[in-house]
Amino acid sequence: MIRTHKFCGKEYGIIAEAVDGVCCYNETLILANGVDMTANSTLTVIHEALHAIRPEMTERDVTEISNELNKFMRRLYTFKPK
Ligand SMILES: [Zn+2]
Repeated sequence: MIRTHKFCGKEYGIIAEAVDGVCCYNETLILANGVDMTANSTLTVIHEALHAIRPEMTERDVTEISNELNKFMRRLYTFKPK
């Protein structure tokens, strides 16, 4: 598990916890659903990373974009051609 990551040149501490709720502090991301490939986990990762990349974005915009990206990525990586 990584402990830090730079978003747009700014280093953030990374904390993954298996608890309910979503938090994003100034220089720490708390990935509330842990880090695995479940839909809740990937949504939280994308959502909190968006807060770090664009802290000025509204919660509504972050939620909309993270939901759309999560749905797109999950379709991409679970699609099985027939
Ligand atoms: Zn948020």
